[in-house]
Amino acid sequence: MMLKEYYRSFHIDEKVFDYCNQVECDLKERFAGIDAVCEINQLKVLKAMQENHLSEAHFAGSTGYGYTDDGRDVLEKIYADVFHTEDALVRSQIVCGTHAICTALFGNLRPGDELLAISGKPYDTLDEIIGIRPSRGSLAEYGVTYAQVDLTPEGEFDYEKIQAAIHDRTRMVEIQRSKGYAVRPTLSVEKIGAVIAWIKNMRPDIICMVDNCYGEFVEVKEPSDLGADLVVGSLIKNPGGGIAPIGGYICGRHEYVKNASFRLTTPGLGKEVGASLNNTKAFAQGLFLAPQVTANALKGAVFAANVYEGLGFRAVPDGSEDRFDIIQAVELQSPERVIAFCEGIQAAAPVDSYVRPEPWDMPGYDSPVIMAAGAFVSGSSIELSADAPMREPYAVYFQGGLTYQHAKYGIIMSLQKMVEKNLIVW
Ligand SMILES: *Cc1c(COP(=O)(O)O)cnc(C)c1O
Repeated sequence: MMLKEYYRSFHIDEKVFDYCNQVECDLKERFAGIDAVCEINQLKVLKAMQENHLSEAHFAGSTGYGYTDDGRDVLEKIYADVFHTEDALVRSQIVCGTHAICTALFGNLRPGDELLAISGKPYDTLDEIIGIRPSRGSLAEYGVTYAQVDLTPEGEFDYEKIQAAIHDRTRMVEIQRSKGYAVRPTLSVEKIGAVIAWIKNMRPDIICMVDNCYGEFVEVKEPSDLGADLVVGSLIKNPGGGIAPIGGYICGRHEYVKNASFRLTTPGLGKEVGASLNNTKAFAQGLFLAPQVTANALKGAVFAANVYEGLGFRAVPDGSEDRFDIIQAVELQSPERVIAFCEGIQAAAPVDSYVRPEPWDMPGYDSPVIMAAGAFVSGSSIELSADAPMREPYAVYFQGGLTYQHAKYGIIMSLQKMVEKNLIVW
């Protein structure tokens, strides 16, 4: 069967297929650029594995306390080498990205310290950790204060306001690399490096922490290459390569990683305990695949932006912009289109493809939310997934795709669903 016939067997109209295929044809140069970054990152990861003598024996895992777990320790050395940091904490006991960030914050901040966010309000799940929304056990309850400087309307760091916000008690600066689900540009590693150098010049004692979620391996450099003291993220996003079933990482300066480890386990025990169970092989294999998987997700995002831009919708980032994370937003302008889009992504999934997503009132959100995900790892957003709050401008956010071919098929399916409901004007 030829490709077109395959797509026909999936009930994709010829017009939809031809249009999307033409869009793809025009992206060859873009994709070559993504492949070039991927190749460098692949070698970076491979080099770290070879230099640390990763071997089959390291996959044996440990139980109980997890003392002398060589596989876990070697994997942490590999992470430290990939991110070019002194130390790393890569653990199954870090349950998600939010937990990794929380551990880095609580481990390094003390009563009387101030945390300063300089890329605007951090990711929503940090509200209750910081105490932006009052919550039991927040940093605020422990006497850690919080200040925030928003990005300028152009999406740049506001150097003047940052300078004014820094004072004696400022202990840590938080920078979020990805836009997450906010409407602002994602920050390049170069821009993050420039602001960190400027802060360090003024106040070398301030810890610069980067929430690195969704940014890993999108560029050839990581924020830790340009001065970040801590980079933190989730293993069910980019660096887990779709293989890690759980986990998070904290890479950075030895002292700060150690402080985080004392929070994750206990003061004194730190990194010495924490059984890897049977996860070391999955973490290592996931890291090995991560540059390629990230590249696939990026290609899917670029493809989607161009498919929908070509039909008159606004894509953020737009079809030709440089990318600094894997998230793509498309403003679909109507609830019907948002639902059709998510139905298409769901119908294209390898798992739960027969399920039809519907908007629901999710706790913590001010409007109904619709989500599409059919993942091997529950909630994994490095796998093809989409979500959208049901409100103006009816923007759908989607990300991931372990293979580009799957991401492409998902996008084509999303358009097919809209065409079937007469929601597209060609
Ligand atoms: C996903 C994400 C988080 C939180 O990670 P979880 O694994 O969902 O807890 C934090 N910051 C950003 C920018 C993210 O994208």
